[in-house]
Amino acid sequence: MPLFDFVCHDCGKEFELLLMGSDRPVCPHCQSLDLEKKMSAFAVRTKGTDGSTSSGGGSKCSGCAGGSCATCH
Ligand SMILES: [Zn+2]
Repeated sequence: MPLFDFVCHDCGKEFELLLMGSDRPVCPHCQSLDLEKKMSAFAVRTKGTDGSTSSGGGSKCSGCAGGSCATCH
């Protein structure tokens, strides 16, 4: 499943959304369409900075199977 991390430019919250085909991502907090998709490079950089979560041994976890949930970080 295509699970992506987003940041809302309006309310500043971070969240995850499943994007199916041409679905338009909408902020679940304020329904804004002004969202920024966070690329995988961001997760790698965050992981490198944190370095506290290495139990998964990879970029995926059982929680989201996409390497982009809070547990993954
Ligand atoms: Zn928002």
